[in-house]
Amino acid sequence: MAETGRTRASSHRRGDSGTHWYERLFRITSRFARRNYPATRLCTRTCSRGYLRRSKNISFKWGDRGRAIKRQVDIAHSRGSLEADWVVVATDAYTKAPWPELRHEQIHVPYFNVATRPLPDELQKSILPNREGYWDTKKILSSFRLDREGRLIFGSIGALGGMGSRIHRSWAKRAIRELFPQILDVELEFEWYGIIGTTGNHLPRFHCFAPNAASFCGYNGRGISPATVFGRVLVDHILGNVADADLPLPVTTPEIPAFRALKENYFEVGAQLAHLIDARF
Ligand SMILES: Cc1cc2nc3c(=O)[nH]c(=O)nc-3n(C[C@H](O)[C@H](O)[C@H](O)COP(=O)(O)OP(=O)(O)OC[C@H]3O[C@@H](n4cnc5c(N)ncnc54)[C@H](O)[C@@H]3O)c2cc1C
Repeated sequence: MAETGRTRASSHRRGDSGTHWYERLFRITSRFARRNYPATRLCTRTCSRGYLRRSKNISFKWGDRGRAIKRQVDIAHSRGSLEADWVVVATDAYTKAPWPELRHEQIHVPYFNVATRPLPDELQKSILPNREGYWDTKKILSSFRLDREGRLIFGSIGALGGMGSRIHRSWAKRAIRELFPQILDVELEFEWYGIIGTTGNHLPRFHCFAPNAASFCGYNGRGISPATVFGRVLVDHILGNVADADLPLPVTTPEIPAFRALKENYFEVGAQLAHLIDARF
């Protein structure tokens, strides 16, 4: 969320014992942003999480601010309110509210990674001598890379929850053994999974939900660099340095893809079936 206007946490003054940690963090980040970005105060995700989850109402109005007529966003909250000139919706695949259509247009694909213990240097060199990232082109794809400490990070489609956990974890161990028999003892130290938001044509989207409420989203599992670049472009757009026509994507209206729920189940169930059989024979 980016804010160029005045912040009003009406029921909480600095130092109030009831002040939420995210409001205090917001003040600190606001001060930092004011110093470093004179025209824009950038609010952290943490702050927006606190505010948006607890928000009762978000309204958009045209207000008379000084001599200029400006658009303004009011976020009403159980513990106060926030005025902002812009809302950047950066909740992407995890969106629940206040614009659920952003989630509805994405087909969720779960993806997990497991990490081995740090491997000795010789083993690392025999796996990825130049520490490249690898992934294949199968529908239920696999990917691997080495982390800074030399762990092999091995991943594929699937959620490490419920029945899937055991299936995916033991597949990962078998697949690592098959690909890299030189690792004699595959011990997993960490594991995690998350949601990848995919779109019908595999391209990201740019939406405007209201005047001055915008979102880039739907990176199809390749969002780390693009989301960073688009974030910078959006800040420039908010500051008035990038015109609508020069944004990297056209403004579109979120559309629900056909058979969304079916496709989401297909990915998880399909991945479980594939991993149940794969790398056994
Ligand atoms: C296991 C896995 C591996 C991946 N590997 C790669 C890779 O190698 N390369 C690559 O480019 N991409 C990869 N991706 C995809 C990449 O992580 C995403 O494309 C990227 O993170 C999208 O960035 P984002 O900022 O749009 O959204 P996110 O990083 O998903 O951030 C959204 C944030 O919004 C928060 N949020 C949700 N609801 C609310 C709310 N109501 N209020 C406030 N905050 C909220 C969430 O907690 C989250 O922190 C991977 C994804 C997964 C799951």
